[in-house]
Amino acid sequence: MPTALVTGITGQDGAYLAALLLDKGYRVVGLARRSASADMVSERLRWLGIRDRIEIVDGDLLDLASLIRIMKAVEPDEVYNLAAQSFVAASWQQPILTGQATGMGVAHMLEAVRIARPAARFYQASSSEMYGLIQEKVQSEKTPFYPRSPYAVAKLYGHWMTVNYRESFGLHASSGILFNHESPLRGIEFVTRKVTDGVARIKLGMTNTLSLGNLEATRDWGHARDYVKAMWLMLQQDTPDDYVVATGRTTSIRDLCRIAFSHAGLNYEDHVTTSAALIRPAEVEVLLGDPGKAKQKLGWQAETTLEQMIAEMVDADIVRHQARAGAPVAPIPAGVSGI
Ligand code: NDP
Ligand code: GDP
Repeated sequence: MPTALVTGITGQDGAYLAALLLDKGYRVVGLARRSASADMVSERLRWLGIRDRIEIVDGDLLDLASLIRIMKAVEPDEVYNLAAQSFVAASWQQPILTGQATGMGVAHMLEAVRIARPAARFYQASSSEMYGLIQEKVQSEKTPFYPRSPYAVAKLYGHWMTVNYRESFGLHASSGILFNHESPLRGIEFVTRKVTDGVARIKLGMTNTLSLGNLEATRDWGHARDYVKAMWLMLQQDTPDDYVVATGRTTSIRDLCRIAFSHAGLNYEDHVTTSAALIRPAEVEVLLGDPGKAKQKLGWQAETTLEQMIAEMVDADIVRHQARAGAPVAPIPAGVSGI
């Protein structure tokens, strides 16, 4: 039975990847940082019904010693580094922490692998945000990067460190340049989930408006359940490499709203307002990926359409809120709902 170590196990992708690996017969060990709310942090794993099948070890990407100890104790065959401060908007509020976790954390992980488990295969969760101010209309593995946020700058460091450790030390280290991917388990601060949660609240009469920022930006959105398959496929290749993972379709926030509200029989124009406070200091206006290499070399392609995914998310958010019915519904705290 192969062993996989997954950092970021409490996040969206950690949950879907863990479910995939368990299905494939892996022993799955998740790295999680200590929390005062330990009973809450495994919520996504519980939602997928897999919490009891995963071993959790305490560690933090900021603490290299913990990573080396874990690498020695767990002896993973595959390491998936998904942990990060992953929210672009928060990276302007906490640029140093973002650099430490999202950037330097990758160097810590690579060092831990190099020192304690050099034969393990390594996956780095890189991001389409690295393209930022896009240099080509459709972004591929060959497109130059131009990061536009402290998050993207940190991801770029992690990406190049992964390439460098592959070339310098022969690690089987691959970098997945994943475009935005969402699901009912997406953090509520990201725009897709903020919209589907807003639709659910409006549909259930809990509120009547949803305040957003830039409606004209476009993203290439796929489903996290599809995208974690690409991560796994990368580590099954004889040779490590970098791959864009995307759908090849880009959609504006405005059209996302149209799709989500109409799924619930609503018109977004009756409910969506815009707030200047939600405009970012520097925006990534367009992202559109070319998944050609992933299709050709990994045999991977996106399976879920945006419409299917948004319908799944809206339905899940309605069920969540209905399940809480009877109990007063707390407003989303400002620091969470803001971008
Ligand atoms: P989430 O924000 O849902 O999860 C992030 C995870 O990282 C959480 O488990 C979090 O733990 C953990 N984490 C944060 N800081 C540390 C730390 N210092 N030490 C250990 N763990 C830490 O992200 P996603 O699942 O959506 O994304 C997974 C990865 O893929 C991230 O690296 C993200 O940047 C990247 N990515 C995501 C894309 C997307 O569209 N989803 C697109 C491209 C890249 P805790 O629960 O304790 O906060
Ligand atoms: P990102 O691509 O990783 O930054 O993912 P997000 O889901 O956070 O943002 C995607 C796009 O939606 C960005 O261009 C944001 O500016 C835009 N956007 C517009 N309104 C909002 C909002 O209220 N919240 C968030 N998170 N993004 C918004």
